[in-house]
Amino acid sequence: MSGPEQTAPDLPHDTSLAVWDLPSPAIAGRRATVKAGIACSSGCNLSGARIDVHNETGQRTGSGEAGSAPWPGTTSLYWVELDVAAPDMPGECAWTLRATASGPHAPATSMVRVVVAAAPQHRVTIAVTEKGSGGPVPGVDVRVGMFRGATGEAGIAQIDVPAGRFDVVACKIGYETLSSTIEVAGDIAVHLKAAPASEPEQPYWM
Ligand SMILES: [Zn+2]
Repeated sequence: MSGPEQTAPDLPHDTSLAVWDLPSPAIAGRRATVKAGIACSSGCNLSGARIDVHNETGQRTGSGEAGSAPWPGTTSLYWVELDVAAPDMPGECAWTLRATASGPHAPATSMVRVVVAAAPQHRVTIAVTEKGSGGPVPGVDVRVGMFRGATGEAGIAQIDVPAGRFDVVACKIGYETLSSTIEVAGDIAVHLKAAPASEPEQPYWM
């Protein structure tokens, strides 16, 4: 850490491992993707570095090699999108990622927690209309439990979920946040009426 700067070739280079775009949630028994990148504190080109993912039992569930170009906006974060086998059972799991690069580079590890959901079986169709005008409201972020979507031009979002009871939350800037609870046992349609966010009472100007 301290001391004179040295460039001895046998000094190890520190590396760090970044993990992002985690699945939220991952689906039990399916493949999921996650992005991971390795960077050297000296800015070396680490393309080709190997990144492995292991589950809690030490089984390797995914691996890949960092690509030839650093992540946009960074000078030396060499990254790869990893294809990872999610656990068969819903719940929370921990993935340990380990990056190994050639040369003087120390390996880097990182652990992430991933929520695993049961496979979706049913479709929730959410229609959002504006209170008053009755017109469709596009661009509404909708969550059904952990599952997310957004309404399109017709004010409709379709989100696939497993059976169960879910909180539905819909929000868009300029509107009051809507929430309700639904019981999903089959395909279901939900109609939400979005009220423009309340502002101080104003006279209605013609
Ligand atoms: Zn280096």
